[in-house]
Amino acid sequence: MQRGPQPADFADVRATNLAVVLRYVRNHAPCSRAEIAATTGLNKATVSSLVADLIERRLLRETGLTEHRIGRPATMLVLDGSPYAAIGIEVNADYLTAVAIDLAGQQVLSWRRSFAGLASSPAQAATAIAALGRRAVNRVLKEDRRVLGLTVGVPGLVSPDGVVIMAPNLGWQDVNLRDIVNRALGEPGFPVAVDNDANLAVLAESRYGAFAGSQNLIYLTGEVGIGAGIISDGRPLRGHRGFPGEIGHITIDPQGPPCACGRRGCLEAIAGISAIIARVLPDLAGDGDLTDLQPEVDEVVRRARAGDPAALRALDEVGRALGQGVSILANLLDPEVVVLGGYFVPLAPWLLPPVEAELKARRIGPEQGGAQVVASILDHGAAATGGAATVLDHVDAGRLPRL
Ligand SMILES: [Zn+2]
Repeated sequence: MQRGPQPADFADVRATNLAVVLRYVRNHAPCSRAEIAATTGLNKATVSSLVADLIERRLLRETGLTEHRIGRPATMLVLDGSPYAAIGIEVNADYLTAVAIDLAGQQVLSWRRSFAGLASSPAQAATAIAALGRRAVNRVLKEDRRVLGLTVGVPGLVSPDGVVIMAPNLGWQDVNLRDIVNRALGEPGFPVAVDNDANLAVLAESRYGAFAGSQNLIYLTGEVGIGAGIISDGRPLRGHRGFPGEIGHITIDPQGPPCACGRRGCLEAIAGISAIIARVLPDLAGDGDLTDLQPEVDEVVRRARAGDPAALRALDEVGRALGQGVSILANLLDPEVVVLGGYFVPLAPWLLPPVEAELKARRIGPEQGGAQVVASILDHGAAATGGAATVLDHVDAGRLPRL
């Protein structure tokens, strides 16, 4: 269909302007109507009308605060956190997390459940995911909030319409997770989306992490699998089909251990958390199903703290492999910071030194090219928080909740 220039639809312009004001307040609150008008270029009467609309939708509220400039005092505006929440759910091989945040970005719930990812069929897994989603939705509704949307993060390749093309560490192939969750929630009337866990986690990191606002930031998931979420020149890197950042499947050692993807010696077959546990705790091998690895990780930390030489040697080898992966990313993308997430966080005291040593040895730019490597402050909630944050991004982009 040919579409030439057309007169802008009034409703479209209005929605766009509402989003402009909402985003301005998100970034500058508390702020006055006059300030919004002066900065956005919208006229004062328009801003007043837009603000009235946003207050009626309960997206903004007036604070008691006033700012005395020359002339009349101005009433200040902030985002209204109370009426809405966005939900994110993270699926992993050994646990599920749910996070809800309000419109202002405050966390209103954060749950973690153990989950036998690899032992569950896609249908069983979807039931567990939907059950957790339903509980989160009910909790939000009980607090008299409306749900703006729910996004599920999965460790695998996800198509834009929410089909998990493959997730080797869950044993999934071509699972239409969005449809399944949507149906299990009873077609809930809010948008349900599915995305790659690393893509979501990096959004959370760039919004709420220690390096929030960084224009060049990489997040590495430290789970059974390892994936990279990438913000490059201020934008999330999405690739041709949405599958970038699969650093977990670069070959570190062609003779190395088998990987869930069917190849050998991939980074995650050496430095993924199951591989770390197998290497550091060989005496506990074959302890059964993969459900919540936290107790094993606690034991790895205990041995490392106690100075157990075998444990320290194993963590150093893992850190060197991880450093090889990080230096490939750093040489390609020139990040300001590489954030290690998930189970890498409690292991960071032992992983960071070998990672930094490898980065220094392999990076073409001097002194690691200026890239820092740090542990995430968001812990296991990053992908779920990012899932909820994408819902807020849609609101900020103009998909406002109906009155
Ligand atoms: Zn692999």
